[in-house]
Amino acid sequence: MPALTRGGHPEQLQTYGLCLAAGGIALFVFLINTMTLLRDAFAVLYVLVVLLIANACGLRAITLTGAGCIALTCISFLIKHFGEPFDGAYLRLAVSITAIGVATMLSVRDRRTRDALSEQVRMLAFTHDTVIVRDAEDTIIGWNDGATKLYGWRSDEAIGSKGTVLLHGGNISSHAAEELQSTGQWSGEITRKRRDGQWIVLDARWITRLDSSGRACGVIEFGADLTEQKHAAAERERSEQQYSAIFQAVGFAIYEVDCSVINILAHNPFDFSVDTLQERLERLSGRPYIRDANHAGAELLGQPNPRDMAGTSISALFVDQRIWIDILYSLVRGKLDYTVETTFNNSEGREVDVVLRVTRPTADVGFRRILVMALDVTERNEAQMKLRAAHAELAHADRITTLGQLAVSIAHEVNQPLSAITTFANSGQRWLARTSPNIGEALSCFDQIAANSSRAAEVITRVRALTRKETSFHTELDLGDLVKEVTLLLRKESAGKQVEIRTYYDPATSLVSGDRIQLQQIIMNVMMNAIQAMSSITDRARVLEIHIKPAIIPMKGALMSFEDTGPGFNNSTEADLFEPFVTTKAHGMGMGLSICREIACVHGGTIDAANRLPYGAVVTVNLPLPAAPNDRSDDAVRS
Ligand code: ADP
Repeated sequence: MPALTRGGHPEQLQTYGLCLAAGGIALFVFLINTMTLLRDAFAVLYVLVVLLIANACGLRAITLTGAGCIALTCISFLIKHFGEPFDGAYLRLAVSITAIGVATMLSVRDRRTRDALSEQVRMLAFTHDTVIVRDAEDTIIGWNDGATKLYGWRSDEAIGSKGTVLLHGGNISSHAAEELQSTGQWSGEITRKRRDGQWIVLDARWITRLDSSGRACGVIEFGADLTEQKHAAAERERSEQQYSAIFQAVGFAIYEVDCSVINILAHNPFDFSVDTLQERLERLSGRPYIRDANHAGAELLGQPNPRDMAGTSISALFVDQRIWIDILYSLVRGKLDYTVETTFNNSEGREVDVVLRVTRPTADVGFRRILVMALDVTERNEAQMKLRAAHAELAHADRITTLGQLAVSIAHEVNQPLSAITTFANSGQRWLARTSPNIGEALSCFDQIAANSSRAAEVITRVRALTRKETSFHTELDLGDLVKEVTLLLRKESAGKQVEIRTYYDPATSLVSGDRIQLQQIIMNVMMNAIQAMSSITDRARVLEIHIKPAIIPMKGALMSFEDTGPGFNNSTEADLFEPFVTTKAHGMGMGLSICREIACVHGGTIDAANRLPYGAVVTVNLPLPAAPNDRSDDAVRS
């Protein structure tokens, strides 16, 4: 049996010894009582036998021993006094039987009490709680298994030690000591140290031990380890505090919603058809209620205090009830998250646009703590609407600007063919008005008029395509040929302004990919600018040199530079040269270089302008190489 007392039990041996002694005494008493002529109530000594057996054996053995002793007493009486007249021998027999009977009864009762007690002691020994018995001097005299398990000291190590020394504490407050003294018991929390040095918290109950005279002679202590519980409670409290801190500080609205009413539907949602489930959810949708809300949640709905929201129905917040039913439906079907954009009714009568994220924590088996998080997107939506309106206005303004630019660009670009048409028309008239009209020259003028008018039409098409960023027709072109063609078209202007045009190029390195008309427009604009710029020069020759060579990195295509001997660019406008409507000319439109940059850009090329030393301007155009044969698809490619 586990120890709760000082020593062990030489159980078996002691039992045998006592039984043997009892048997010996019984035999001895029987022989003396039967064989001798002693007249005293010698049989009373059978009481010893009963007492010995009562110490060693159980109830049945005690009863049998008592009965056996009475039987032996009677046998001895019959052997010695059978047939004698009634005298003192009968009285002695009665005394002996009474003594044995009473001893047996008392022993049975004592045995019963001891059995019950030892049962209780065993219970205490095996309980998980600690049971420690201390005497008046604080010496431990009882120590159960629970105490061994909790403190780490074995009973043989603990028993005999001073309680306060072994367990490093355990003294109770004076108030508690008073209570113990006056009522004989006390209960409360105490802190103790285990053998491994770890401090533990106990829920202790102390009971005063009383000696036979009723004086206090120590304490019995029952203790249950609260350390784990305390840690768990502290952890729970910490995580509750953390949760509540996050709940409040998160900055957007959170509502904790009790949806336990849909729990029953969630058990077997697939037992219902979609329609039945929807119908039931519609009926139940008003019942889930807000358990808690954070400050942002209250603020969102125009409530002064989050507590005022507790217990109110969440469905009332939804402008569109179907959204809330859809959320419930997805929860019932086992989804843990649901995100949707919707509108809430605000208590101030305002509608608030929110993005909702509904989450069911995995631990929330009964749908009791559904988290509904709401992000107010009203301002964002309003801003988006304003942005859309602004975009529409911008697009409108853009269209108007584009139209204006288009008109100006077309006017700029068709100016040259139109003036050519006028010139040729005048010449033609003159040839025909002569007394002997020169039909051949007149026809040649008509040809020129026709060529320039179709060129004007093509220029219009290309400028429109450019402003609309439409497909243009890219082919392999020789820049040298293009320059020659444009030089021919501008021969009147260049001759009129006494400008000498020199062209340098190698046909092997002047091939590029591009739209003929558009590249002609670049060349013509840049050449016209140079011719016009040089018209004011009187102190030096007016020369325009056109160089076509491979780009510095040959893979990048061809480089075409136009170098004149004019005044160069005016510094203040140099940076804006390529912007539309920048001009220094009295009748200029400021569109030429802007169109050139647009064309270079859609060709994947570049255009730059700079002054050259000691005088003059240089405009450089970089255009890409023609595509490799494999890359070409017909003549048209999207730019
Ligand atoms: P516009 O010819 O209608 O003025 P451009 O865009 O073609 O428009 O030219 C813008 C301005 O750039 C011109 O007004 C002129 O001041 C300047 N510019 C262009 N080419 C030259 C050049 N070769 N020499 C000096 N200035 C030039």
